[in-house]
Amino acid sequence: MKFDQDTKQKIAKQIEAKGALKPCARCGHQNFSLLDGFVSLPLSQEVSNNVVIGGPSVPCAVVACSNCGHIDFHALGALGLLNTQK
Ligand SMILES: [Zn+2]
Repeated sequence: MKFDQDTKQKIAKQIEAKGALKPCARCGHQNFSLLDGFVSLPLSQEVSNNVVIGGPSVPCAVVACSNCGHIDFHALGALGLLNTQK
């Protein structure tokens, strides 16, 4: 999925539809920014000094508080935005 304006609107709409509308968990500010891109959170399944590259990961949208910069992640799968064909 390409991160364009269309996708950005879809993500914002889905987050809203899920009722994720509470103020910032850290500072109580009401305004957030959806960052211009996805992150893939890596899932580590063992604790060691070895870093596994290319293992399982969770693609997420990133929302940042406009005041304090606190960052939250929303899994794209939960928002129904994975495997969408364009
Ligand atoms: Zn905040």
